[in-house]
Amino acid sequence: MTAEASYRRHNRARILEGGPIAAEIRSRLSNEVRSFRDRGGFAPTLAVLLIGADAPSAVYLHQIVRSCRSTGVTGRVVEMGERVTTALIRRRIDELNRDPLVSGIIVQMPLPRRIPLRAVIESIDPRKDVDGLHPQNAGLLSLGYEGFLPATAQAAVEILKRSGYRLEGLDATVIGRSNVVGKPASLLLQREHCTVTTCHRRTDDLPGHVARADLVVVAAGSPGLVTGAMLKPGALVVDVGINVVGDRIVGDVEFESASKVADAITPVPGGVGPLTNAILLEHLLAAARAQHGE
Ligand code: ADP
Repeated sequence: MTAEASYRRHNRARILEGGPIAAEIRSRLSNEVRSFRDRGGFAPTLAVLLIGADAPSAVYLHQIVRSCRSTGVTGRVVEMGERVTTALIRRRIDELNRDPLVSGIIVQMPLPRRIPLRAVIESIDPRKDVDGLHPQNAGLLSLGYEGFLPATAQAAVEILKRSGYRLEGLDATVIGRSNVVGKPASLLLQREHCTVTTCHRRTDDLPGHVARADLVVVAAGSPGLVTGAMLKPGALVVDVGINVVGDRIVGDVEFESASKVADAITPVPGGVGPLTNAILLEHLLAAARAQHGE
C-alpha cells in the first residue's frame, strides 16, 4: 500500500513534508554549485543582512546558513546592530552589490520598526535580490514575466506541485496579503490557473471564504486561525505561518483538527520552511550564473 493510501484509510490527511523535496533540490544544487565553482573559480555567496537580533529570525538564520553549507555555497551573515541607521544599511548593501563574490542578498525580517523596509529593499541590486522583494522583481511577477520570486510564496506553491497536485481550476483562498508571502502567493496561484480569493485582517467573512476553498494558503502569523471545522472536506492546506508559542514553533493552522478534514496538509515546522531555503539557493545559483554571463 502506498503511503498516500494508508493516510486515506485512516482518514487522515497526507502530510506534505518539505524536507525530502528540499533534500532532492539541494543534492542537485550541490553538483551544480561544484561545477560552477570549477568553471568560475569561486563558490557563490549569499549575504544575509541581520539588523538587530530577534528570536524567530535567529532560528531561520541558523537554518539558512546550514543549508548553504550543505550545498557548497558560502553563507555570509552581515550583522548590523540594533542602533544602525538606514543610511549605513544602504551603504553596506551597496558594498555587497559591488562585491563580485556576492551573488545574492537577503534581509532578515522583521526589521527594527524605525527602519523603513522599502528603503532597504530598494537599495538591493535587483539582479542580487534572490528573495524577489525589490519593486522590479515584484513588478515582473505581477506582469507574469520572469524574475526572482519571493522564495516562501514560491515554496508554498511548489510543495503542492512537486507532491503531484494539479492546481488548475481550483478555488484557492490565500489568507494574508503581505508583500513577502500573501500577495505573491496569490499571484503565483493565478499563474497556476487557480481562482484566487485573498483574505486579510479586514475580510468580513473569513470562514465563508475558507469553507469554499479547494486550496487554502495561510500566511497570517496567527496561531490556530484556521481549524478543521472551517475547511471544506478534502481541501489542500498549506500553512506558511511560523509562530513561537511558548517553546514551540507552530503554524497558523490547527494541525490536529485540520488533518482530519483536509486531503493534504503541510506541517509546521517541516513543511514549507525547508523548501523555502532550498528554493532560495536555487535562486542564488541562477543569480551567480546570470552575473557571470552564463
Ligand atoms: P507574513 O510575513 O507571514 O506575510 P505579515 O504580518 O506581514 O506576515 O502579514 C500578515 C497578513 O495576514 C496581513 O496581510 C494581515 O491582513 C493578514 N492577517 C492577519 N491576521 C488575520 C486574520 N485574523 N484574518 C485574516 N487575515 C489576517
